[in-house]
Amino acid sequence: MPFKLRNFTARTRALVLQRAIDLVDHQSVLLLDHDDEHAQSHVQNNRGGIYHVEIRFRDEEVVFTHCDCPYRGVGLCKHTAASLLQLLVVQGFDLKSIKSSEYHFNDADIDEENEEDLVLKELITEINNDKYFDLFQFLASQDREQLLGFIGHYLEESEDIRLVVMAYLWYKGERQTPTKDFLS
Ligand SMILES: [Zn+2]
Repeated sequence: MPFKLRNFTARTRALVLQRAIDLVDHQSVLLLDHDDEHAQSHVQNNRGGIYHVEIRFRDEEVVFTHCDCPYRGVGLCKHTAASLLQLLVVQGFDLKSIKSSEYHFNDADIDEENEEDLVLKELITEINNDKYFDLFQFLASQDREQLLGFIGHYLEESEDIRLVVMAYLWYKGERQTPTKDFLS
């Protein structure tokens, strides 16, 4: 999994990369400390809070990244990407030097496999093995406010394109059949 700092764009989706550039551009990334082995930063989120990002280096390569946001999509989250980009910027990197070929619109083009992916794989195995977890029953049993809060938070932080597509199809369906109850 080790990669050169400058190659972080190979592990970042196009939309996430754009958000990361915006975060750096708007000075939303605060580097707390950084040296040859380690970096920590705080990145402002949309709700006025912060996410904490941790990065470790070995032999001038990134060997570990972690962010405490809930992103579970493909590749790095925007906070991690923004923190890596901020590290480049303090070394004199110009944001405008990112080439258009570095924007990866296809998930299959993203380099992956880090600790977070392994955690996700373990979680999926756990879900498969949990006989008592029924997604639809669980979601349907939540009260409407909590459910909408969950969806809002998920959309804001995960940028999962599948959810956006589902929401769009729902929106289209609503326009055709205006009277349709939510989860009933
Ligand atoms: Zn994050």
